[in-house]
Amino acid sequence: MRQPPPASTPDDPRSRAGRPGIRQEDAALSRHQPRAEDINQGAPPPAEDLVELTIDGRRVLAARGQTIFQAARAAGIAIPHLCYHPKLSIIGSCRLCVVEVEGARNLPASCSTPVAEGMVVHTESERVIQARKVILHLLLANHPLDCLTCEKTGDCRLQAYAYQYGIKVPKYHGLRRDYPRDDTNPFFERDHTKCILCGRCVYHCAENVGVNVYDFGYRGFEAKIVAGLDRPLENSPCIFCGNCIDVCPTGALQPKLIKGKGRVFDVDRVPTVCPYCGVGCALTLLVNRGEIVGAVPANGPANRNLLCVKGRFGWDFVHHPDRLRQPLIRNGEGWRAASWEEALDLVARRLSEIRDRYGPDAIGIISSAKATNEENYLLQKLARAVIGTNNVDNSARLCHASTITGLAEAFGSGAATNPIAELEEAEVILVVGSNTFEAHPVVYFWLQRTHRRGAKVIVIDPRRTAVAEIADLHLALVPGTDIALINGMMHVILKEGLHDPEFIAARTTGFEELLPVLERYPPKRAGALTGVPAEKIVAAARLYGSSRRATVLYAMGVTQHVSGTATVRALANLVMLTGNVGRPSTGIYPLRGQNNVQGACDMGALPNYLPGYQRVDNREARQRFAAAWGRPVPERIGLTVVEMFQAAMEGRIKALYVVGENPLVSNPDLNRMEEALRRVEFLVVQDLFLTETARLAQVVLPAASFAEKDGTFTNTERRVQRVRRAIDPVGESRPDWEIVADLARRLGYPMDYASPAEIMEEIARLTPIYGGITYERLKEEGLQWPCPDRSHPGTRFLHHGRFAGGRGRFAAVEFVPPAEWPDNHYPYLLLTGRHLYHYHTNTMSRRSYGLARFRPDPYAEVHPQTAERLAVNQGDLIAVSSPRGSIRCRAFITDRVKPKEVFVPFHYPEAAANRLTHAGLDPEARIPELKGGGAALAREEPARAVEAGEAPRAARAPGGRVAASGRRTGTVRAQAQVEPERSGDLGETR
Ligand code: SF4
Repeated sequence: MRQPPPASTPDDPRSRAGRPGIRQEDAALSRHQPRAEDINQGAPPPAEDLVELTIDGRRVLAARGQTIFQAARAAGIAIPHLCYHPKLSIIGSCRLCVVEVEGARNLPASCSTPVAEGMVVHTESERVIQARKVILHLLLANHPLDCLTCEKTGDCRLQAYAYQYGIKVPKYHGLRRDYPRDDTNPFFERDHTKCILCGRCVYHCAENVGVNVYDFGYRGFEAKIVAGLDRPLENSPCIFCGNCIDVCPTGALQPKLIKGKGRVFDVDRVPTVCPYCGVGCALTLLVNRGEIVGAVPANGPANRNLLCVKGRFGWDFVHHPDRLRQPLIRNGEGWRAASWEEALDLVARRLSEIRDRYGPDAIGIISSAKATNEENYLLQKLARAVIGTNNVDNSARLCHASTITGLAEAFGSGAATNPIAELEEAEVILVVGSNTFEAHPVVYFWLQRTHRRGAKVIVIDPRRTAVAEIADLHLALVPGTDIALINGMMHVILKEGLHDPEFIAARTTGFEELLPVLERYPPKRAGALTGVPAEKIVAAARLYGSSRRATVLYAMGVTQHVSGTATVRALANLVMLTGNVGRPSTGIYPLRGQNNVQGACDMGALPNYLPGYQRVDNREARQRFAAAWGRPVPERIGLTVVEMFQAAMEGRIKALYVVGENPLVSNPDLNRMEEALRRVEFLVVQDLFLTETARLAQVVLPAASFAEKDGTFTNTERRVQRVRRAIDPVGESRPDWEIVADLARRLGYPMDYASPAEIMEEIARLTPIYGGITYERLKEEGLQWPCPDRSHPGTRFLHHGRFAGGRGRFAAVEFVPPAEWPDNHYPYLLLTGRHLYHYHTNTMSRRSYGLARFRPDPYAEVHPQTAERLAVNQGDLIAVSSPRGSIRCRAFITDRVKPKEVFVPFHYPEAAANRLTHAGLDPEARIPELKGGGAALAREEPARAVEAGEAPRAARAPGGRVAASGRRTGTVRAQAQVEPERSGDLGETR
């Protein structure tokens, strides 16, 4: 039965106000266009840059170069429009914005006509109104009049203008276009009969998303918007971000899941944050009678009204029938449902027994990078103050632990230096080990926009990823040789005098020790070590070193190596060498994988740090927390995730409490991991679903999803943002913070918080970087830490004038080879990574209707030469083996990987890439080498020919492909030119 939505309060942003459509777009307009106040009341531009004109009898000052439309809007005069959009180039196709200019013979389109001194404009004269009526009549003559049942009703501009101009029955009758709907994909459908050919989707996809899916096709009456060679979207380069839906002024583009579940006037709108990657896109959940029916982007600082496919369409796992609805207690080989009292009593009793018998360090807690800050704070507090151990860690250990160690040592802070939006002004963007297009798509949208405006992009990555395809330079190195490459670049920068001696002298230490190391990496040697041609290393060094606004993005390609921390240090060296830090549009961005990796670390869900990166081995820090918590804080640094499992194998860890993580898919060397989990005496798992890890547990506790609780997430740019409860928890599930507090009470420690806001108050009292953060202050833009007190506005970029640690520290970093190279038995280099439509261990994304349909089966990317050697065709089954295990998956033949490499995404439990990876650890950050190592390949079944149309769904091109052509105005024939770009993708065989 549908439940009523939770009540909203007057100052609660959950409300029916701010509907999408015209009002939302107007709000966007006001943010992007000069406003009346800016020109007429704010600091005026120089007089010579102003023109004075009259609009509807009002004297208006406008900036020279503005259009009439912009000047009118700035003065608060709305002009009807369909194709104009503030975020797009001027299209000028609909002509609805025509105005009358005294002295002009025709009615010009106001969106493309510049203001002129003395101009007299009428926006609603009789001539103008008649012209607009004719345009509307012509549009309606070829438009279905099914407003009663159209999903867009109430949010349709055509409908709104027909109403405004009193058009009841279309005047003109004639041929109507009658195209079939394109509803072949699971996300949204295209109804060409409702398309008014405004072109907004074409321009938005090309300019703001950068994928160029759409174009104008055919001519005259036959004209239509086409995707690819006028194919269904599913067979085009579309990545289904759905951003085109937002700019469509009619019902031509409509999301599917919301169909029949609520139109604009039916839904409540709850602002929150995407639960997938660390970009932290702001979105609005659409809720109707207790059910989420859709999601639309919000104007958050990291995404500015854009989302990727996961954020927009991946929310429906919340209502999946697999959701755990009751606590479960193991009953032999199966389970029985239990009450919360019984389950929590059992957990408390078993943890107490184990603590009493073996000591507190026999218990480990794996906290969740998907849970809120408040929940992570309580989990580490449970470990330290209640159980008495520092054995608490989170999945940052598998992705960015080396960032915390490496950057903190170099700069005094292990976080991203600058906000994502500052990428827009960068001159050079160096992308290292980041498949940004698939793992952080909205960051890719920012990046490609900057690139289109002329910024240079350099990519260091073994694979030819989509971002490598648009890059000015792609340095396809041998995995794990990043240090040699970065040192080689620095060698050139120094030799050519591109470094910043003043910055180095004034702001850093350790430069002298670095010099002899760099001397050993001339481009020739760096090239030999990395497999990158020396001239490319020189070119990259010159590009990066010559810029005063150069930024570095990096991700797990850097950190998931035994040399991860050293590589992060090398990148910090590069940044300091050129003085590209401490200013806007410079610095370094470690892109976080999960939504709240940053927050989980900030909150001290780490074995060596208390909240706010206060070291556990610092006596004063421990005393401060002990005084606040009323319990001593253990002194001994705890075990990391991987170490906890090693300790479990050795019998030192007896109990594990795993919250919102699935280590049985995400950790390395899974066969040993499984053995370790089977050895612990007591395993309790708290999650949304019965994950692979939960299946081994004695007790499973059902947790509420992001949409069913309040709290905060901290994104990859240190921005703390509110997460809001949109619906009641499913079944008997409860928010993690409530479960942890209840468990702590049963363990004899009162945690009586009335709400997450109250937990945040405690966090702020004890965590200087969060000192000024309260729920009342967390508005639309959130707050970026450090935010030390309640009057502090937050910190946009770090290290301005002074590094957080005083002086920046160069580290003399030498190339460290990977822990394992391919050999005769395992001759291929194993690469692991992500796929656009899947997320982490697939617990959520595989339970999303749309996401689950793309690449549902495990696959491995192999080079065509490899395929030939193995005698396999596209989609054939192959075995990928390493010294630790073997998996079976489909061959995906592509030249994105090199002949001696194999790429396996880590999302699929049934063919988990981590059965192959090894547990060699970075010696400092204790992060495992999840990328690299040797692999063997073998054909699993006889080769078969793949006939056109036969390829399995798994065969879709990973992440779609970015069309090479940036043309928007061509015809279908122009699009045909980009098709060869896709050859080699299995998608082509469909
Ligand atoms: Fe969500 Fe990341 Fe996509 Fe943004 S980029 S919508 S945060 S998955």
